Amino acid sequence: MDMKERMNIQRQPMPEQDAKARSRNFDEVPLGYTPQAAITEANRCIQCKTKPCIEGCPVEIDIPGFINLISNGDFTGAARKIKETNALPAICGRVCPQETQCEEKCVRGKKGDSVAIGRLERFVADFERSQGSISIPEIASSTGKKVAVVGSGPAGLTVAGDLVKLGHDVTIFEALHIPGGVLVYGIPEFRLPKAIVAAEIDYLKKLGVKVLTSHVIGRIFTVDDLFNDGFHAVFLGTGAGLPTFMNIPGENLNGVYSANEYLTRSNLMKAYLFPEYDTPIVKGKKVAVIGGGNVAMDAARTAMRLGAEKVYLIYRRSRVEMPARIEEIHHAEEEGIELHLLTTPIRYIGNEKGWVVGMECQQMELGEPDDSGRRRPVPKKGSEYTMEVDTVVVAVGTGANPLVQSTTPGLNTNKWGYIIADEETGQTSRKGVYAGGDIVTGAATVILAMGVGRKAAKAIHEYIMSL
Ligand SMILES: Cc1cc2nc3c(=O)[nH]c(=O)nc-3n(C[C@H](O)[C@H](O)[C@H](O)COP(=O)(O)OP(=O)(O)OC[C@H]3O[C@@H](n4cnc5c(N)ncnc54)[C@H](O)[C@@H]3O)c2cc1C
Ligand code: SF4
Repeated sequence: MDMKERMNIQRQPMPEQDAKARSRNFDEVPLGYTPQAAITEANRCIQCKTKPCIEGCPVEIDIPGFINLISNGDFTGAARKIKETNALPAICGRVCPQETQCEEKCVRGKKGDSVAIGRLERFVADFERSQGSISIPEIASSTGKKVAVVGSGPAGLTVAGDLVKLGHDVTIFEALHIPGGVLVYGIPEFRLPKAIVAAEIDYLKKLGVKVLTSHVIGRIFTVDDLFNDGFHAVFLGTGAGLPTFMNIPGENLNGVYSANEYLTRSNLMKAYLFPEYDTPIVKGKKVAVIGGGNVAMDAARTAMRLGAEKVYLIYRRSRVEMPARIEEIHHAEEEGIELHLLTTPIRYIGNEKGWVVGMECQQMELGEPDDSGRRRPVPKKGSEYTMEVDTVVVAVGTGANPLVQSTTPGLNTNKWGYIIADEETGQTSRKGVYAGGDIVTGAATVILAMGVGRKAAKAIHEYIMSL
């Protein structure tokens, strides 16, 4: 195929469930490319010599390399190529913000649509799984070194996968009863099916990683206990799952949830599978979700699927400043979520039984940019009004999970309680203790957690081999 023909191919659309039907079920929204659509999309890649897309990927997947294999119809080869640097492609193909990473750098995006790199990544990972053709890479012979990984989110899973391949004995300690971190308790089924996360974790187990769930480090064992037990190094990937609130009146009313609790009840405790699982969750009819990020979108779309008549998304800045992925905002609006922009709640109103029945809001306008570079929302005087709501989900950010820091003497943290670690190696103030992911950076993304996980694994390998 010559260059002109490639340039004339349009970006292949992603087939999706119909918006009305999907707003009442938890099945995955995008349905995935067919093999033909994947080959056509792959043929749009012009195989640039400079490969700028790779720079945009925190784990440096050989993007033109795997796309070329798809063009040739070698889907299994393409999956293997991705797995050289990314152990979790089915997850990244679904939840990475590609539009600000690899696809942003794609030269085809300069004059038109970039190559749909994420959709192609998802396609080959799903193809490989559906064929049962998942290959196990060569594992180095045993080094006799033991590594403990605390937390089984994307950071911990990446560290574990990289180190086990190098011949180390790796054990993951996870506080919850199911491994996967935010991938299972936060991101809902309709964006990331649980079976896919389970399959990726099974792959790591096949490589030899041991996974111990319901093991809260800091309670059951401390980091020092792990060293006393013969571990040579410890990686901390405990995430930033501590809910934060706005400190406004009425936040302790029944029916006011943190997004973390709301999503955990729905996802991990399977309230979304009612009546098979009868997990208590308020199925509000008029639900307000406070916030403008991915977490807020997930909570709002979950509320709609749990049967709400109205779901309002209340965000204090304008649409341009919303941190959520554009695709998620678009999906939410298609499903009937009402955006109330430049609006903030100032108090929640309860009834005599202590349940939330309404909230008072205030309109905002945008002033000068703040430290984040986004224009600061300023309250508009006299613009207060009340709304009737029976459920509120607060999704305005999270903080560091504090337990390990408070039980590990000599582990330095910053003023917000996040662990201080070297950007390149993950090395903390304690010898042999490494950290990465949200517990170091604050809430970020799956692929950034995986990127630092790769660097930390390399540093841990060098450290334990020098002992
Ligand atoms: C609702 C939601 C939606 C999101 N959507 C996206 C998205 O679309 N795309 C994207 O890229 N990112 C998204 N993110 C962000 C992304 O999921 C996180 O940045 C990423 O999961 C961080 O990975 P991590 O490994 O650092 O921590 P986590 O995924 O938070 O995992 C930490 C794990 O450590 C465990 N743990 C904590 N303390 C202990 C302890 N003391 N002992 C043992 N285990 C412990 C926790 O139970 C958890 O399983 C989303 C986040 C949320 C909450
Ligand atoms: S930048 Fe785009 S067109 Fe160029 S190699 Fe990467 S994916 Fe292909």
